[in-house]
Amino acid sequence: MEVGRCSRCGAFYTNGGYVCPKCTSKDNFELSQFKDFIEENGIEVNSLSQVASETGISEKNLNRFLNYNGLEGYKKLFNI
Ligand SMILES: [Zn+2]
Repeated sequence: MEVGRCSRCGAFYTNGGYVCPKCTSKDNFELSQFKDFIEENGIEVNSLSQVASETGISEKNLNRFLNYNGLEGYKKLFNI
Protein backbone atom coordinates (compact mmCIF):
# COMPACT_ATOMS: atom_id res chain seq x y z
CA MET A 1 0.00 0.00 0.00
CA GLU A 2 1.36 3.38 -0.93
CA VAL A 3 1.37 6.06 1.71
CA GLY A 4 1.24 9.69 0.65
CA ARG A 5 1.66 12.82 2.67
CA CYS A 6 -0.96 15.52 2.27
CA SER A 7 0.55 18.73 0.92
CA ARG A 8 -2.18 20.78 2.56
CA CYS A 9 -2.17 19.51 6.15
CA GLY A 10 0.75 17.10 6.36
CA ALA A 11 -1.38 14.11 7.29
CA PHE A 12 -0.49 10.67 5.99
CA TYR A 13 -3.04 8.94 3.82
CA THR A 14 -3.36 5.93 1.55
CA ASN A 15 -6.11 6.83 -0.88
CA GLY A 16 -3.70 7.70 -3.67
CA GLY A 17 -5.02 11.18 -4.40
CA TYR A 18 -3.06 14.42 -4.40
CA VAL A 19 -4.14 15.32 -0.88
CA CYS A 20 -5.71 13.50 2.09
CA PRO A 21 -9.45 12.72 2.05
CA LYS A 22 -10.14 15.49 4.55
CA CYS A 23 -8.60 18.13 2.28
CA THR A 24 -9.92 16.80 -1.02
CA SER A 25 -13.04 18.96 -1.19
CA LYS A 26 -11.13 22.14 -0.34
CA ASP A 27 -8.48 21.23 -2.87
CA ASN A 28 -11.06 20.59 -5.59
CA PHE A 29 -12.82 23.83 -4.74
CA GLU A 30 -9.64 25.90 -5.04
CA LEU A 31 -8.65 24.07 -8.18
CA SER A 32 -11.93 24.97 -9.86
CA GLN A 33 -11.57 28.57 -8.66
CA PHE A 34 -8.12 28.64 -10.22
CA LYS A 35 -9.42 27.23 -13.52
CA ASP A 36 -12.32 29.69 -13.59
CA PHE A 37 -9.95 32.56 -12.93
CA ILE A 38 -7.65 31.55 -15.78
CA GLU A 39 -10.61 31.03 -18.08
CA GLU A 40 -11.95 34.49 -17.33
CA ASN A 41 -8.66 36.35 -17.37
CA GLY A 42 -6.53 34.21 -19.69
CA ILE A 43 -3.59 36.02 -21.17
CA GLU A 44 -3.95 38.98 -18.85
CA VAL A 45 -2.67 36.81 -16.05
CA ASN A 46 1.07 36.71 -15.97
CA SER A 47 2.12 35.68 -12.51
CA LEU A 48 1.06 33.20 -9.89
CA SER A 49 1.31 35.88 -7.23
CA GLN A 50 -1.32 37.86 -9.12
CA VAL A 51 -3.60 34.82 -9.16
CA ALA A 52 -2.89 34.24 -5.48
CA SER A 53 -3.79 37.77 -4.46
CA GLU A 54 -6.95 37.86 -6.56
CA THR A 55 -8.28 34.41 -5.67
CA GLY A 56 -6.98 34.05 -2.13
CA ILE A 57 -5.39 30.71 -3.00
CA SER A 58 -1.84 30.37 -1.69
CA GLU A 59 1.01 30.35 -4.21
CA LYS A 60 2.16 27.07 -2.76
CA ASN A 61 -1.15 25.46 -3.67
CA LEU A 62 -1.20 27.11 -7.10
CA ASN A 63 2.22 25.65 -7.83
CA ARG A 64 0.92 22.27 -6.81
CA PHE A 65 -2.13 22.57 -9.06
CA LEU A 66 0.13 23.20 -12.05
CA ASN A 67 1.41 19.65 -11.68
CA TYR A 68 -2.06 18.13 -11.69
CA ASN A 69 -3.24 16.15 -14.68
CA GLY A 70 -4.88 18.34 -17.28
CA LEU A 71 -3.22 21.56 -16.23
CA GLU A 72 -0.06 21.15 -18.27
CA GLY A 73 -1.17 23.95 -20.59
CA TYR A 74 -1.34 26.40 -17.71
CA LYS A 75 2.36 26.10 -17.10
CA LYS A 76 2.99 27.91 -20.38
CA LEU A 77 0.95 30.87 -19.16
CA PHE A 78 3.36 31.30 -16.31
CA ASN A 79 6.48 30.28 -18.20
CA ILE A 80 7.09 27.38 -15.87
ZN1 LIG B 1 -4.87 17.05 4.33
